[in-house]
Parts: sequence; C-alpha cells; structure tokens
Amino acid sequence: MAEKEFCVVCGRTGRPLVDGVCADCAADRTVLVSAPARGVVVLCPTCGARLVKDHWERENSSPVLSSEDLAPFLRVHPEAGIRRVTWEEGPSTATVRELVGTADASFRGVRRSVRVPLSVRLEHRTCPECSRKSGRYYTAVLQLRGPEERRLEKATALRTRLDAAWTTVLRDARSDWKRAISWREALPEGWDIFFTDTIAARSVARLAQQRLGAEFKQSASLVGRKDGRDVYRVTFLLRIPRPAPVAAPAAPVRRSAARLEP
Ligand SMILES: [Zn+2]
Ligand SMILES: [Zn+2]
Repeated sequence: MAEKEFCVVCGRTGRPLVDGVCADCAADRTVLVSAPARGVVVLCPTCGARLVKDHWERENSSPVLSSEDLAPFLRVHPEAGIRRVTWEEGPSTATVRELVGTADASFRGVRRSVRVPLSVRLEHRTCPECSRKSGRYYTAVLQLRGPEERRLEKATALRTRLDAAWTTVLRDARSDWKRAISWREALPEGWDIFFTDTIAARSVARLAQQRLGAEFKQSASLVGRKDGRDVYRVTFLLRIPRPAPVAAPAAPVRRSAARLEP
C-alpha cells in the first residue's frame, strides 16, 4: 500500500497538496497582498476630483483619503482574493499619510489577515475644469429662453419655469456634460448658461430639444486667434415652449374580468 501523502512543510496528511505543500503552509509562504512603498494621490483642492492616469474623475468627493483612493495601490497575488480591507492612519504630515491596510484575503480556501503598510503622498493640483471656471473661461453659451412670440410671462416666472425644465434635462445628462457647466446668468428673457466644452454644451442642448420639444438654433462667432487658429464661441439658443394645458384624462382602462371581487 502506498504511503499517505503529507505536506512537505508541516508533515500533516489528509490535505489537498499543491507541489507537495498544503494550502495553509502555502498561504504562509506567499505574499498574498502587497503595496508599493509609496503611492501618490493627486487631488483638486477645489472640487475634490482625483487624477487617475490621464483623466480627472470623482469630482465633488471628499478630500479625505478613502479606500477608493487606496485600493488601487494594492497588488494581489493572482490566486488570492480580497474580501475586505480596513485602513488605519498612522502619523501623518500635511502631504504624506502613513497608512496600514488590513486585508482579509483568501487563498486556496484558507483565509489570512494581511497587514499592508502604505505611505501616500498627497499632491494638490487644480483640475483643468476648476482652473477654467476660476478664469470665467467658456467656449459655448446656451441661451434658455421662452417662446419667441411675446407672451405675458413675467421675467421671474419665466426664469422659474425655465429653471425647472432645465433641472429635468440635467437629471438625464451625462456627468461630463454637467461638469462642463461653468456658471449661469439670470436675464430678463431667461438664462445664459456658460460651458467650458462646446461638445458638452451641444449634447445638453440636443437633449433639451428632444425632452422639452424646444426650438433649437446655433451660431458661432469669431472671438480671436490662438496658436494660428481661429477661435469661435458657439451660442445655442433653446426656446422652451410653455407646457400645454393638461389634457383631459384618457378613458379608464376596463378592469380585467379576472380581477377578484373584494
Ligand atoms: Zn502544510
Ligand atoms: Zn477641480
């Protein structure tokens, strides 16, 4: 009879072995989770956006480091899985945070708690959107207006109505379109909404046109030259019709005969 197979490290038998080693021993001898000695997180001090590779994301998030900032630094062994990581902050300076993560990892059916020290340097950099906005930079203006024919709609009532319609459009607008909105100005005839990105402005204008049945016009004006090229500002005019009077309710649907009587 063949001898019972045993783990070459601990000598125990009756356990599944990989290369002669049981999962417990293999887990102890493997780096399941690690992190580089130092990571860098770049954040915009104005809007809280993070620079991830070559683009900014998560605007309006807290400037406090969270697991969302830290998890990407973790290197996980291909055979290991992480259920949870808790982070504790140690002694820190204004720009360098000393952290220790405790990862609840699993590996070939066994679980290990792995301590992962990580030092993160915080770099504050104003994102392009915030720097543009602070300079009142814009490339397109979206004019929200009432219908062309002058109706008896007072300026404040008109603006309130347009604002409500605009809010419903923004609810369905992509976040990068909304992010391109820089500021807006109240006018007797409606609102002027300034965008830092013309494509975003056009996209929102088209969405508003569809959703609100608005009349849509666009025009461009030359504002100067930069790097040997003409620079245009584009104006999108949206005329939002007044909502039609509420139609008579449709005939009620006949109740199904199968409906149980009370
Ligand atoms: Zn073993
Ligand atoms: Zn920003």
